[in-house]
Amino acid sequence: MGRSASNMSVALFGGTFNPIHFGHLNLANSLADYLHIQSVRMIPCAIPPHREAPSVSAEQRLAMLNLAIADNPALVADDLELKRACTSYSIDTVEIVRQEIGATKPLFFCIGMDALTSIDSWHRWTELLDYCHLVVCLRPNCQIPSEGAFATWIENYLCDDLTQIKKQSHGCIHLCKIPLLDISSTAIRDSIKYAKNIDHMTPEPVVNYIKQHSLYE
Ligand code: ATP
Repeated sequence: MGRSASNMSVALFGGTFNPIHFGHLNLANSLADYLHIQSVRMIPCAIPPHREAPSVSAEQRLAMLNLAIADNPALVADDLELKRACTSYSIDTVEIVRQEIGATKPLFFCIGMDALTSIDSWHRWTELLDYCHLVVCLRPNCQIPSEGAFATWIENYLCDDLTQIKKQSHGCIHLCKIPLLDISSTAIRDSIKYAKNIDHMTPEPVVNYIKQHSLYE
C-alpha cells in the first residue's frame, strides 16, 4: 500500500526536542513509512509536565526542529503546544487534534517505550485511548511492563494488526520494532558541555544554530 492510499490517518510525534536529533528524525521518517501516511506532525512540548523546564526556550527548540526538517516533506513541525500557555499535557493535545480532524480518522500518537513505561503518571492517561491509538517504539533497555494493573491495561489494548487498527479511529496500543539510533538529547547536551563534536548527532543547520546561539554551554 502506498502512502497516498491511507493518508486519512494522522500521526503525532511529541517530544521536548532539546535539541532535535537524528534519533527523532530517523524514527519519525520510519513511522511515516510504517504507518503509510504522508506526514508525521512533530510537536515540541512547550512546558513539559514531567521534567524541569528545559534550558532552551520552546521557540528555540521549535526553530531547531524547523531547521532539521526543512527539506523533508514527510515531517511537519506543529506548534500546537506552544500556543497554550499551560503545561503541555498529551491528553489536551490529542483532544485538540481529534476535534480538528473529526471523529473518524485514525489518529496515532507515537511514543518511545521509555514513555509508555511511565504513562500511568501522565495527566488523565486512561483517557488517551478515547482519542487516539498509541504507537510505541521499542527502545534499548526499556521493557514493556509485565506486572500489575498497568501491565493489564496495556495488554487489554494491545493490537498487532495494523490493517485492523486503521479501521478504528482510536483505542489500540501497537508496538513497532523500528530500529532506533543510539542518540539522545542528553548526550548532545553533555557533548557540548565537554566540548565534544555533535556533528554526527543532529543535522548541520541545527549544529550551526546551537553554536550561533551558544546553547547548552
Ligand atoms: P532527553 O535525553 O533530554 O531525555 P530524548 O533524546 O529522550 O531527550 P525527547 O525529546 O525526550 O528526546 O523524546 C521525544 C520522543 O522521542 C520520545 O518518545 C522518545 O522515546 C523518542 N526518542 C528519543 N530518542 C530517540 C532515539 N534515539 N530514537 C528514537 N526515538 C527516540
